[in-house]
Order: sequence, then structure tokens, then C-alpha cells
Amino acid sequence: MTQNITIIGAGIVGIATACYLRRDGHEVTVVDMRPPGEYCSFGNAGILSPGSCVPLATPGILWKVPGYLADPMGPLTVRWSYLPRAMPWLLRFIAASSMERVERIADALRPLLRQTFDAYEPLVNHAGVTDLIRRTGYVVVYQKRESYVGDALAWKLRRDRGVAIEELDSAEIKRRVPQLAGSYEVGLYLPEQGYCANPERLTKSLATQFVRDGGKLLQRKVLDIEVGADGPRALVTDAGNVPVETLVICAGAHSNEFTAKLGDPVPLEAERGYHVTFSDPRVDLPLPVFMPEHKFFVTPMEMGLRIAGQTEFAGMNAEPNYARADILARHMQRILPGISAADTTKWMGRRPSMPDSLPVIGRATKFANVYYAFGHGHVGLVGGAPTGRIIADLIAGREPGLDIRPYSASRF
Ligand SMILES: Cc1cc2nc3c(=O)[nH]c(=O)nc-3n(C[C@H](O)[C@H](O)[C@H](O)COP(=O)(O)OP(=O)(O)OC[C@H]3O[C@@H](n4cnc5c(N)ncnc54)[C@H](O)[C@@H]3O)c2cc1C
Repeated sequence: MTQNITIIGAGIVGIATACYLRRDGHEVTVVDMRPPGEYCSFGNAGILSPGSCVPLATPGILWKVPGYLADPMGPLTVRWSYLPRAMPWLLRFIAASSMERVERIADALRPLLRQTFDAYEPLVNHAGVTDLIRRTGYVVVYQKRESYVGDALAWKLRRDRGVAIEELDSAEIKRRVPQLAGSYEVGLYLPEQGYCANPERLTKSLATQFVRDGGKLLQRKVLDIEVGADGPRALVTDAGNVPVETLVICAGAHSNEFTAKLGDPVPLEAERGYHVTFSDPRVDLPLPVFMPEHKFFVTPMEMGLRIAGQTEFAGMNAEPNYARADILARHMQRILPGISAADTTKWMGRRPSMPDSLPVIGRATKFANVYYAFGHGHVGLVGGAPTGRIIADLIAGREPGLDIRPYSASRF
């Protein structure tokens, strides 16, 4: 039976969900104060990695933090005034780093993310943007073998779950990525991974197709939800009320502002990251490169070369600290010394991050007409289309083909 469905959020998760629901014939309205794809889904690294099953918190993470914080070129920063507010989330993050939890989290991430190419395929075909999805694989390089040995658990978690990983010696690294300066003691090639050449254009193109197919986009800020005994009745917006029958929350890092009202308070943090895009770099890369020692990706996008990474805990509303982006730019000039920095842009985005690195996907605890699809942290692009397909399956009463219990909002 077709339904009237309202989605809050026009990021990649909300738009992919809207596309899948529209394919099922539902009347779908997406409400967002911004045009599609202009928040966190705008500026990510574009990586589509079905093998990203390793959570951020792994055993021993606590002992690595001081080193990251002390390194002026490091990947992590905490604004100390924000620390007391971040503390409950950080304690949950550390609690999720036990070996037993990490194995379970990896088991739950892999079946979701491994669907990524398969779930995007019908959407990009229909929208005529198959060119955006590139199945090139990516290369990982370590300057020091000891860092690779230190990451042994992460590589074992991937291998145990069937992720294809090929080891590269220095000559092979040079052959695959001749542009890369510096010496690398370990290289790896992950052939089944890929990337999106423009994450903003992906979200916007899918949104345009959704509207062509009869879907509605409403540009409004949702201020509140009017909730009755049977669930939400209307969205209170900055331009009047929008009545709702079935509601899907895809509001990225803001989702907990709504779930709390709906009886599901969840620990969601805006984990801030940065990018620098070199629009006229005068060098090209054949495929993305990841540097785990500094935790950044360099991706060959259609609008230039992008370096993206960094984790900053500073709260939702603090101004961006572009010194974090400058660190990325310096890394870029170190590894690609010939790069032209004549035309660069910097960006900060808020990853919607749960402390256990698992998203929230499924029906609300209290109300049968509310669904959640948020909290994908570092893998929201990878997980966007698979999540949309799961939500459509749940609403249609179809079996989604994977165990969704680990993504429940009530797991905390
Ligand atoms: C530096 C960086 C690199 C990254 N690299 C990758 C990567 O390579 N691969 C990957 O898979 N992921 C990556 N990510 C993560 C990925 O970008 C996010 O997980 C993903 O974009 C989240 O999508 P979303 O749709 O949930 O949220 P968003 O894109 O943030 O969309 C949420 C939407 O909700 C709307 N909204 C919120 N509140 C309201 C309100 N009150 N009223 C109306 N609308 C509202 C917002 O305006 C926004 O449009 C990266 C992130 C960063 C920061």
C-alpha cells in the first residue's frame, strides 16, 4: 500500500531514501532548509568502500590519543572548552573499543556497506550519472612498517570478512601511483573499493531525478515536531506546519534533536572534518590514496584533487578552524610536491557520528509511523543508498536481507 511519507534531510541518506521510496510508488516529500547535498554530503572524500568494516574505536585507542593530540600535523583535535559536553559520548566510544564489541560491530557494518555499488546502481542509472561512480580500487601507503604492524587488527578484521587486499612493494607503489613523493615501506591495494567523483553532484542529481519522478522537495527549516498519542502529526517549520503520516529522520548530525522528542534519545556527535580541494592541481592521480598514519584520503575528483580528513570535537556551532584544513594542504604539498595551490577551496563538515561507529536504521521504538536513517559517521556516502533501500524494504514490509537489529536506536 502506498503511503504519504515525509523525510527530514536532503543529504545523501535522505535523498537515496526518497528515491527508493518513490520507486515503490509512495508520495514522498523531503524537507530541508538547504538545497540537496549542501551539508555534510557536500564535501566528503567521496570514498565508496564496501570493505570499511573497522570501527573507529579499537582496543588501545585511548593510548594513541595523546600522540595524535601532541602532533601539530596530527589528525585529531579537541576544543578543550567543549570536552565536558563531549565526555559522555567519548566514554561510550571507549567502551565500544573492546575486542568483543569490535568484532560484533565489524560483523554489522560489513553486510550494510558491501551493498554500496549494487544499491547505487539503479539510482545513478535512472538519473543518468553513472559517470560519477568509479570502481578503481584504492591504494593505502604507510611510511613506516611499524605503523602497519600497529594496524594489524584493522587489516585482520577486513580480511576475516572477505575484503580483498593485495600487498604492494615499493616498486609496485611507484608503478600504480607514480605521482606520489616520499618513501613508503608498505603499500596495499584494495581492488573492490571505489569512489564518487563529485558527492555534491551525486546528491543533487538524484534529487533532481526524484522531483522529475513526482517527488517533492520543500525548502524549510524544521523547528519542532507535533506529536500525538499515535506519533507525529505535523512538522512545525519556519514557514508553517507540514502534516505528516509517516516520517523518516535523515537529518545527519542534527537527527537527535528530533529523536529525543520521539522517545529515542541517542548519543550523536558532530564529528567535524575538513577538506581542501585543489581545483587546478596540474597533477592527477589515477585512483584515491589513503595515508593511515595521518588519516587522510586524497581523491581525484572531477573538480580537482581533494584531500579530506581530520577529526575535531568542538560542538555543532563553533566556527570552523581552518588551521585544520591548512594541515591537510601541507600534507598535500609534501606528498605531491609539484601540485599547484593557485586555486584551492576549504570546507568543514559535521559527520553524524555514533560512538560505536554503527548508524541508526530502522523503526522508532515508540511509534510505528517513524523511521530513522542517520548516524553513519565516516561512511555516510558508502551507506547512503544501502540505507535508503533498507528503509523502503521496511516500509513495504519486505525482508531487507540483513540483520538490522545492531542499528537499533534503543541499543544504548
Ligand atoms: C572530511 C570528511 C570526509 C568524509 N569522507 C567520506 C567518505 O569518503 N566516504 C563516506 O562514505 N563518508 C564520508 N564522510 C561522511 C559523510 O560525508 C557523511 O556520513 C554523510 O554525508 C552523512 O549524510 P547525511 O545525509 O546523513 O547527512 P547530511 O549530508 O549532513 O544531511 C543532513 C541534512 O539534514 C538537514 N537538516 C538538519 N536539521 C534540519 C532541520 N532542523 N530542518 C531541515 N533540515 C535539516 C541538513 O540541512 C542536511 O541537508 C566524510 C565526512 C567528512 C566531514
